[in-house]
Parts: sequence; C-alpha cells; structure tokens
Amino acid sequence: MKTADIVVVGGGVIGCFAAYELAKAGASVVVVERGRVGAEATGASAGMLTPLNAAEEGEPTPLFDFYWASLQMFPPIVAELEETTGIRLEFAVSGALRLSQSEEEEQLRREQFEAWRQNLPAKISWLDAQEAHALEPALGPAVRGGVLSHEEATINPTRLVHALARAATRWGAQVMEDCMVTGVRHIHQRLTAVTTTAGDIATPHVVIAAGAWSRFCGEWLGVSLPITPVRGQMFSVRHLACPLTRAVFSYNGGLFPKMDGTVQVGATVEMVGFDKSVTPEGIASLMGLIPALVPCLQQGHIEQMWAGLRPWCEDGAPIIGALPEWQGVTVAAGHFRQGLLASPATAKAVKSIIVDGRSDPMVETFSPARFAHG
Ligand SMILES: Cc1cc2nc3c(=O)[nH]c(=O)nc-3n(C[C@H](O)[C@H](O)[C@H](O)COP(=O)(O)OP(=O)(O)OC[C@H]3O[C@@H](n4cnc5c(N)ncnc54)[C@H](O)[C@@H]3O)c2cc1C
Repeated sequence: MKTADIVVVGGGVIGCFAAYELAKAGASVVVVERGRVGAEATGASAGMLTPLNAAEEGEPTPLFDFYWASLQMFPPIVAELEETTGIRLEFAVSGALRLSQSEEEEQLRREQFEAWRQNLPAKISWLDAQEAHALEPALGPAVRGGVLSHEEATINPTRLVHALARAATRWGAQVMEDCMVTGVRHIHQRLTAVTTTAGDIATPHVVIAAGAWSRFCGEWLGVSLPITPVRGQMFSVRHLACPLTRAVFSYNGGLFPKMDGTVQVGATVEMVGFDKSVTPEGIASLMGLIPALVPCLQQGHIEQMWAGLRPWCEDGAPIIGALPEWQGVTVAAGHFRQGLLASPATAKAVKSIIVDGRSDPMVETFSPARFAHG
C-alpha cells in the first residue's frame, strides 16, 4: 500500500500551497486531485489580491487582518517559486481603483475612504474625477471620483497553482491527478488511511482542501463543513492595446487588465448548486459594466467566457484548523472570493498545525470547532 505522512485532498491553490509548505518542511506529501490541478475555482479566478474588498464596513476584522497578512507574503514567495520552477507568475503590485458613477456612490466611496484611512494599514489616496481620468484615460466620461489603493496586487492563478505543484514535487511531494478520495479509514477517530479510486493510501494525516466539495469530506468524518458552491461567471475582452493599467471596480463588478493584453470582466455571484454553465443572463449582466466604465472595450472582441464554483462557508469565513475530536484531520476550505489571496497564509497555518504542532493565532477564529456543536 502507498504511504505518506500527509495526504492532501484537492489540487486547487489551497491544496497545492499547503502541499508545498508541508513538503518543504520535510513531510512526505501526496496530493490527490479528482480532475486536473487548478481546473476548478482556482483556474476560474481573476487572480486579484485585493484585501480591501473584505473591509466594506471600514473596520479591520479578523478576516481583513488575515488577508492583509497574506498579501504581504506574496513578494518573497513569488520570487522563490519563480526561481525554483522557472514559471513566471505575472505578479504585479499594480493597485486598484474603486470608482463611483453617481453622486450617491461618490459620497459612499468618500465615507469608505475616510474609514479606511483612519482604521486600516493600507496606503490609499482619494482621486477626484479629473485625477481618475488622468490616471486611467480610457475611463468613461461619467466616471466620478474614487479610492486608489497602492499595494493591492494581481497574479496569474493558473501559473501560480502549477508552480506550486511543480515546486512541491521538487521537495518530494507526489501529485496524483484523475484520482478521487472516496473516504477515510480510522481507529477510534485516529486517521490511518484515505481510500481513493486508485486504492488506499496509509497516512496519519489528511488535509481537506476540496474547495466547494469539502462538505462531502465532512460527511466521511461525521462532521458539518457547511460549504456550498457559489458560481462566478467571467469573460475576457481583447482590444487593440490594453486600455487599463490597473484593476477598476464599480459597485457591480470589476475590470482586470492582464499581462496577455486582455481585460477580464467579472464576476457574477450565483447560488445555483454545482452548475458551472455560462449563461446569457450572467454574461449580459457583466457586459453592462463596460459602456460606462471603459467604453472603448465595446469595440474589442470577446476571447473567452468561463465559470467556476467558489467555496462559500455559511458564516462567510474560511474553515482552517484541526478537526476537534479527530486525530490527524486538518481542514483548509471555504475561502469564497479570496482563496488566491488567502492561500499563502492558509498554507503557513496548515504547516504550523501539522508540522510544528501549534495553532496559528491568526486563524483561531476560523477553526472548524465553531461548527462542532451546531
Ligand atoms: C469567477 C471567479 C473569480 C474569482 N476571483 C478571485 C480573485 O480575484 N482573487 C481571489 O483571491 N479569489 C478569487 N476567486 C476565488 C478563488 O478562486 C477560490 O477561493 C479558490 O480558488 C479556492 O481554492 P480551493 O483550492 O479551495 O478550491 P478549488 O480550486 O476548487 O480546488 C479544490 C479541488 O479539490 C478537488 N476535489 C474535490 N473533491 C475531491 C475529492 N474527493 N478527491 C480529490 N479531489 C477533490 C476539485 O477537483 C478541485 O480541483 C474567484 C473565484 C471565481 C469562481
């Protein structure tokens, strides 16, 4: 029988990042992925690293602090991964512009700006309409003032997840694709093996990183992991030259310039179960963003449309931590709209729990224990 110190269920960004950190720390790790690495929510992601989206109320929360800490981890880890794998991750600290399109929205943005300026560590500036147009000349004439953040960033999600999988294998991890974990074996809630469609893997430890499907892993263990899929549709447009230099957000969505010259437009937020269809209704709602925000893109051509399933946990926070009443089960799932952003901090927390035997204070509020008695 195959053996491993740790089996990771799921080859998305969360599972691959955890595998990388665990393998680098000396553990023998097997990642089991039902399909292809990064082909689910991770591959559908816009790759925005924008923690301010989690501070809508203007106050720092444990979730914002976690995302903010995670953002700071990117520059060294990107350098490390690019050097190890030779894969360019298209990481750029290009900032983001959150705009208003009416007097009422401008007032709301101003209030948000004041609250962020007073309460958050982020470097931000207020731009009036003229300054916003000077910075991004392709913005539509009706666009008004907004908040410019200087430290938010972007990355190519598919390249990141493939670099992580490759770097993890350099540290000795094994990645099994087209293989599904179907359950666990245990003696009195102490893990002994996982069962897969390619046979059992003997292991004392499993990491549940199965994204929107993590609820089913909870069923093997008799615990509640209240995670459901939330569909996000997106499309990309190519125009003569990329008309934007940074991400722009309205209250209804965002336009994200990419290094391949396209602009991605997204994303819908839909509770439709495990349905990854791209729908006329969803795409039409996103197209509505273009005329007011960046009108010249109406003359571009649509290159691709896609959808993915975000893992949403019922209280809005991810589930990260050791499962109470079990020995050898750690959960890292439910990152909803910020899984790329949260991936380095999540992986470090998982490594700290399993390898160092201590809980990371940053993730204590995200422990699965909060659902233990519900
Ligand atoms: C349209 C869209 C835009 C987004 N934009 C952003 C963004 O800009 N920034 C950001 O930070 N986040 C963004 N997100 C969210 C982000 O993509 C997710 O939070 C993140 O990818 C979750 O990663 P994951 O590894 O948990 O899940 P996934 O990437 O879904 O990976 C889970 C994997 O587990 C596998 N799996 C499930 N069950 C089993 C099993 N039993 N055995 C083996 N394998 C199994 C699945 O096949 C899957 O590959 C976006 C998401 C969408 C859909």
